[in-house]
Amino acid sequence: MSRCIAVDDGSAGVCANCGKGSDAAGTVKLRNCNACRLVKYCGVDCQRAHRKQHKKACKQRVAELKDEQLYSQGHERPEGDFCPICTLPIPLPMREHSVFMECCMKRICNGCAMASFKRGMSDCAFCRTTTADNEADTLAMIQTRVAKKDPVAINNLGNSYFRGGLGLQKDMRGAVELYTEAAELGSIEALYNLGNAYDLGKGVQQDMAKAVEFWTKAAMEGHAGSRHNLGCIEAERGNYNRAVIHWLISAKMGAKDSVENIKRAFMEGVGTKEQYAEALKGYQDAVEEMKSHDRDEASALRRSRGALEGQEKVAGLLLDLDEGTLAVYKNGKRLGVMQKGLSGEYCWMIQVDNTGRHMCSFQVLVEKATMPADTCE
Ligand SMILES: [Zn+2]
Ligand SMILES: [Zn+2]
Ligand SMILES: [Zn+2]
Ligand SMILES: [Zn+2]
Repeated sequence: MSRCIAVDDGSAGVCANCGKGSDAAGTVKLRNCNACRLVKYCGVDCQRAHRKQHKKACKQRVAELKDEQLYSQGHERPEGDFCPICTLPIPLPMREHSVFMECCMKRICNGCAMASFKRGMSDCAFCRTTTADNEADTLAMIQTRVAKKDPVAINNLGNSYFRGGLGLQKDMRGAVELYTEAAELGSIEALYNLGNAYDLGKGVQQDMAKAVEFWTKAAMEGHAGSRHNLGCIEAERGNYNRAVIHWLISAKMGAKDSVENIKRAFMEGVGTKEQYAEALKGYQDAVEEMKSHDRDEASALRRSRGALEGQEKVAGLLLDLDEGTLAVYKNGKRLGVMQKGLSGEYCWMIQVDNTGRHMCSFQVLVEKATMPADTCE
């Protein structure tokens, strides 16, 4: 028996261990290594004998195959990201560019919502149900759909528990249970939310491997925020090449944060100018595709009404010089007094802590600071 056959070469139609080829009589039947499909064997004995020698190449190929899938899937945004009326994808972040309708569990873009309102219609622009005007009715609407096992509704109820909205007591464990059920029923948003829960350790024990697992599933189904986060995780690990591949995908879906990160990578010398140019062009194309007359009009109206007011991300500070207090407001509600007994000169230092990773969470710290020296005089 010759032992000099190029055994580990998958192109050869021979057993990688013994070198036997399939014969005309069909007595030798070669089977692929199931994991990597790189090599063939004539039987289990040969496969076993060859295992030690093959292990490394096999593992490497399996990782390559996994990456190929990870990078090639999920370039298109999922169905839930499209406005059901104008059928255009909703700009990111979707929460700022659409309204969620609890009656039909659809996200309607600001453009269509405004157009419908202008026509004098105050009910849901999609299903024509009268919209709920209080938390209890809204919750009841969601619960009706939850009972019917609607994954979007279940995910939404999860959100309400997670944040303690709609008059519900904050319950993060309960939220995670609902996200899990919604994800099993096909909600991509729920996969993203589960990733966030594991990332932050809210409602579950913090577990980055699990966070990545959920974001990966969501990203491969076209979830832009999850794709962006996968890039951030890779960057944190110092894998900038992998990070940029992820961010390029999400940038082309219209994620501005991803373009910003690629820009930063380029400026810091861990990404190329070409990558930045590609990201920017892809992002601009995506934005262009999402434009419509109604949407332009709606955002102009929003800007004229004060862009910050009413947005969930925005907190307001009230400095009351009569009472000597500094209070924080959010969504028109007073959250609490940050400082009291204020008098005389104060200098406030505001720190914005945005790691750039999460599209929807960053921290603002307000602290008393020493007065800066007056350098002007
Ligand atoms: Zn063999
Ligand atoms: Zn193999
Ligand atoms: Zn629309
Ligand atoms: Zn509706």
